[in-house]
Amino acid sequence: MKHLLHNPAYKMACDQFDAVAQFLNIPENMRERVKAPKRMVTVSIPVRLDSGEVKVFEGHRVQHHLTLGPTKGGLRYHQSVELGEVAALAMWMSWKCALADLPYGGAKGGVAIDPHKFSMGELERITRRYTSEMIPFIGPQTDVMAPDMGTNEQTMAWMMDTYSHQIGHAVPSIVTGKPVSIGGSLGRKEATGRGVAFLANRASDMLKLPDDSRVIVQGFGNVGSYAATGMAKFGAKIVGVSDVSGGIYNPKGFDFQALEDHVARTGSVKGFSGGEKMSNEELLIQPCEILIPAAMDRVITDKNAGKIQCRILAEGANGPTTVEADAILRQRPEIFVIPDILCNSGGVIVSYFEWVQDLQSFFWAETEIFDKLYRILGRTLDTVLKESRKHNIDHRTAALSLGIQKVVNGKAIRGLFP
Ligand code: GLU
Repeated sequence: MKHLLHNPAYKMACDQFDAVAQFLNIPENMRERVKAPKRMVTVSIPVRLDSGEVKVFEGHRVQHHLTLGPTKGGLRYHQSVELGEVAALAMWMSWKCALADLPYGGAKGGVAIDPHKFSMGELERITRRYTSEMIPFIGPQTDVMAPDMGTNEQTMAWMMDTYSHQIGHAVPSIVTGKPVSIGGSLGRKEATGRGVAFLANRASDMLKLPDDSRVIVQGFGNVGSYAATGMAKFGAKIVGVSDVSGGIYNPKGFDFQALEDHVARTGSVKGFSGGEKMSNEELLIQPCEILIPAAMDRVITDKNAGKIQCRILAEGANGPTTVEADAILRQRPEIFVIPDILCNSGGVIVSYFEWVQDLQSFFWAETEIFDKLYRILGRTLDTVLKESRKHNIDHRTAALSLGIQKVVNGKAIRGLFP
């Protein structure tokens, strides 16, 4: 898919894949089969705005591979969405699902809008029209969507309703991350952030860092806020947070309850008086034990990878560290990287639990969900560390190679038909 390579995220995903393919010695004739997205669907979404004007938006869905089950992944609303970026995110979902042993291929969807600029009614019409355009390509055994950046439980409820109308009865298993009242899973909303906190805490124990470690979280959306809450519960000190409006830093640690109250009241960390104002770029390079990028991709680059001052880099976002930054981090063995496809996999793991519960119409208690989630995360972290030690490779290469190898094996044993 050379025409997508102009997109920096897609190029990054391909560069990562090529390096791992080399390391794993994947046969040449298998490489393109495993790397190239299987299906890419682009639709135009005509929507009547509140003003009466009709606007046409662009929406995408990329299903990366169909070898191991239905495809799975979020739907993103962000102004930077384009096909190449969605394809990169779909590829990362594939390795993430395979690494956690979920019976899915990766997928991702996106609509190129800034969701903050639209009313609820407009967002509902955009979501419903996107869903109807996608109906031929999705289904509980084909492709299952979930929230991602800019979308949430409400978005999933509209999607489920639109799809169910077409089918003629309620089909909760068409999406995950929906409200519990219509077949969502307990714990799904918090799962990604709590998973990040669980893994960061586990790494912190391994490195024998103090319980009151300093934590910086970039991005205070669904992932970042639950990750920060989780870390605060483990006794850590949250010293820095940010969102699109900028960052706040206080080396002594915030009054976390006051910060949570401020965000609940105003919807942003902006204006919180418990620390010094700081840009997102500056915040990333402040001293801390645990740094959690939980916003956009490609924020740790060759410009700042030499300057970050953490002991643990816990990647809550998808693709936060560029290939060039990785080369620098490899020269900094004091930094323990928890790579994105492991670190933020709590979300899709509980999505899998939600899908299974929906298919069986049999729902689990929250304790059961988190017990199972932490068991999978703990086991996967151990496997990645073992692989890394065995081959003397960095954690990301270890995680990617475990995921990619699983997809290669699936394709090889199923064979090529016709
Ligand atoms: N959007 C989330 C991710 O990037 C969750 C995907 C899902 O639950 O299917 O992992």
